[in-house]
Amino acid sequence: MKIRKIQKKGYDNGVSLAKAWLSEDLVLYPGSGREELGYLLSNKESSKKLGYAAASQGPNVNLLERWEKHAIEQGNKKVLERIRAWDEKRFLDCLETIHKKSLTEALDKNKYPEIQGLAAYKDEEVKGIAAVFGIDYRRVLLCNCSFLRFMYQLVTEEWEKESFEGGKCTTVIFKESPVGPIIGRNLDAEMAAMAGLQGSGEPVLFQYPEEMGYSYTSMTAVNSKGLMIQGSSIQYPNERMPKHRFGVDGYDLVLRFCETVDDALELIGRYNLFFEPAPSNLAVVDVNGDAAIIEKTKNTFAVRKTDRRSIFTTSGVAVEKKTRKIQGDNTQTYQFEFKRHQLIENLLLEEEKTPTIEAVQRIMSNHTMPSPVCRHLENLPLYSQLVTLYSFILIPREQVYYFSVIRPGSVYPCEQEPKKYSYWFT
Ligand SMILES: [Zn+2]
Repeated sequence: MKIRKIQKKGYDNGVSLAKAWLSEDLVLYPGSGREELGYLLSNKESSKKLGYAAASQGPNVNLLERWEKHAIEQGNKKVLERIRAWDEKRFLDCLETIHKKSLTEALDKNKYPEIQGLAAYKDEEVKGIAAVFGIDYRRVLLCNCSFLRFMYQLVTEEWEKESFEGGKCTTVIFKESPVGPIIGRNLDAEMAAMAGLQGSGEPVLFQYPEEMGYSYTSMTAVNSKGLMIQGSSIQYPNERMPKHRFGVDGYDLVLRFCETVDDALELIGRYNLFFEPAPSNLAVVDVNGDAAIIEKTKNTFAVRKTDRRSIFTTSGVAVEKKTRKIQGDNTQTYQFEFKRHQLIENLLLEEEKTPTIEAVQRIMSNHTMPSPVCRHLENLPLYSQLVTLYSFILIPREQVYYFSVIRPGSVYPCEQEPKKYSYWFT
């Protein structure tokens, strides 16, 4: 287990994080891959070995060029024109202005006590990281999920669309079993993210000083009270997103300040307009076996709880009346994702009678067509090409999980013996 001891001062924390990443051959990289505290990281050596040149360029990669290339591939002329209207200097200057503006934003102390002073702390943290890597602090900002998404939307003026890097994931929960709650989780993303994920799996613990909240682990996203949160990406193309609204790292807040599912629901409701990532299908479960799915749009959300022994969510589809209406259910994509939703529902009806680790494993590696749970490239339609990159099964009460990650040559997680990891909170 790797421990990141969180420092009380932002700058010190940035220095300490960056030194840890350096020693583990991790480099900041503004693409999908692994993530710590909102910073996107990639494994430099394995990126090089696998021939992913962009990832081995680290934070200095020219994002405008990359987005331009993507727009060409997509044949999106309107977006291409918008990207070409920018140059790197203007791009970075604009990012700086937005960052400074976000620092001065004063949010009601009584309503949002958890984030008072957080923007200034994060600003210092970014500068500490930049100092260790010897790079422009704005390049560190671009490796932060929220800033990256925001800048992409600003440049392309695609406010209604998620950044093209969004993952497609599935979370399945048995609320009760002889070992307490059992959670199955598949991360589905672009094949290109495989390089950055090689060597991942070992728990990373963010150890917070008591006054800053509870400690938690990365990836498995479970805190010292046994509360877990996971998300699946979804789009609401018809919902207007208010421009220039800056979000807070919602997972971080839930994990640091909540003990139960009801605590999490209260916090998500209170931070509704600022909660990131959004939109998202969130799954929360606590150590007592309470669980909920929150279908979060940009502006509102619907909550699902159930008396059944299991609950789940998957990407791309809202099923609650309120959110389904906002999403619109007559598109090809909706129907494709909805089929996976129905598939999992049926699998759970059967498997929840005997809730075991093996049962979760069977569901997470199910390949029923046309919209399988475990996604292999050759089985996917052209409009949904994200594959299952890693899969884990978490048992919070025992503080263990079973993890497998895709290997080069496309050896999918379902084709491997998972590795068992333990974590503990000191
Ligand atoms: Zn598979």
